[in-house]
Amino acid sequence: MVSDLFFYQLGLIALVWLCCMLHWVWPSDSLTVPSPLPQPTSPQPKRHREPKPFAGFTTKPHCDACAHATAPRPQAPSAPPPHIVPMRGRRRQVDTSRHFCPNPDCAYRGWVGWGNLRANGHPSGGPWRQLLCVVCRGYFLETLGTIFHGKRAAVDLIVRVIACLAEGLGIRGTARVFEVDANTVLQWLVEAAEQLRAFSQHFLHDVRVQQVQLDELFALLGAVKAGEVSETEAIERLERCPHWVWVAMDPERKLLLAIDVGNRTLAMAQRVVHQVAQVLAPDCAPLFLTDGFREYLTALLTHYGQWVQPARRRAQGPAPKPRWMPLPQLLYAQVIKTVRRRRLVRVSHRVVFGTLEAAQQVLAACGWQINTAFIERVNLSIRQHVAAVGRRVTTLCKGEAGMRQQLVLYHVYYNFCLPHASLRVPLAAPLPTNGTGSVTQWQPRTPAMAAGLTDHVWTLRTVLLFRVPPWPQPAGV
Ligand SMILES: [Zn+2]
Repeated sequence: MVSDLFFYQLGLIALVWLCCMLHWVWPSDSLTVPSPLPQPTSPQPKRHREPKPFAGFTTKPHCDACAHATAPRPQAPSAPPPHIVPMRGRRRQVDTSRHFCPNPDCAYRGWVGWGNLRANGHPSGGPWRQLLCVVCRGYFLETLGTIFHGKRAAVDLIVRVIACLAEGLGIRGTARVFEVDANTVLQWLVEAAEQLRAFSQHFLHDVRVQQVQLDELFALLGAVKAGEVSETEAIERLERCPHWVWVAMDPERKLLLAIDVGNRTLAMAQRVVHQVAQVLAPDCAPLFLTDGFREYLTALLTHYGQWVQPARRRAQGPAPKPRWMPLPQLLYAQVIKTVRRRRLVRVSHRVVFGTLEAAQQVLAACGWQINTAFIERVNLSIRQHVAAVGRRVTTLCKGEAGMRQQLVLYHVYYNFCLPHASLRVPLAAPLPTNGTGSVTQWQPRTPAMAAGLTDHVWTLRTVLLFRVPPWPQPAGV
């Protein structure tokens, strides 16, 4: 009797033989296609991929922010009323030149420093002055439209609470420091954010820049506790969460052009570019520098594109469809970083729109290479100054809206209140300081001053006391 084992072995041998035969018989490339030249067997050198020129879109990319755009920036009425110069009485002691009449029925409404206002003392001994419009005989307080209007809390307290939030202490921490209820702090933040948004819009428009750096940074919030997940895990988890902080800045003047919070999506990239386009002068198309996030291309094209009619390739047939192409003056380069095991391995550059020479020419004016270093430095400041964006914090931040308010506060504080070391200019003559300190040789400058938006360093108090007029005032009147 032959054992089963024998048959198994026989089967195994047959299988091995079949494999060998198949390997020998199977047509291999080298046998069936004789190569004209004996190729060296060394691995082929990596092909250098030439990026294809951008072919253009057949449809104009849709921007949600453009579709839902609010009314255009209010323009001053074409005919301003005549200036009022007081003829009678003694010289005015109180400067009312930064105020305007709020009465919608008054011809002088919204005109700042038109001479129609007169100080009227402090009603019932309150801290704020009352102003009188001599045209409409309307009375209003000098805090109308600011966070201080109708508040019984001390001005100093409100200013310090907001300053603490701007410096990066969380809402609960600030509430403990000043022994105020956390909900009160939140309420003040909400009101201040609304006012500061108007403040930003009032000053930040028609800005001319050579370069814009764009970046997104993630914020750990609520459900994701710091320390429990790695950075990459957090990124994956947060990819869908609306907790990415988007920043656009002018690296030359360190000016923050836009700052927002949302998903890491095309719609959000478009929204940020939309905001940048709103801040920049209409004919200003700067050099954009971003990381390798792919959606920036479409987002930039949405706002810096035009229809181009491609040339006919053949004499007959229908004309080729028009293409949505980048504006000829638009320059866009990406800085692509390869990170392995949380270590930076390689940094490469890719010019997407325009030429490398043109991009380098813009950068050479500052003695720079293609980089996104400045925006990354700003990201660090944001982490320090906006409590909700910091890595190891669990602050009272009611989701996206709460974070947006803190970012609005930081936006104004950074642009108008914080002098930047690299922007300071030497004084013509050194100023002596009080006491024994050395003489002052430098004039501190904020990004807003460097960009020519204002001529002085604002304090948070003056920012919060500023009554934003309803339309931009004509210059030099
Ligand atoms: Zn009036």
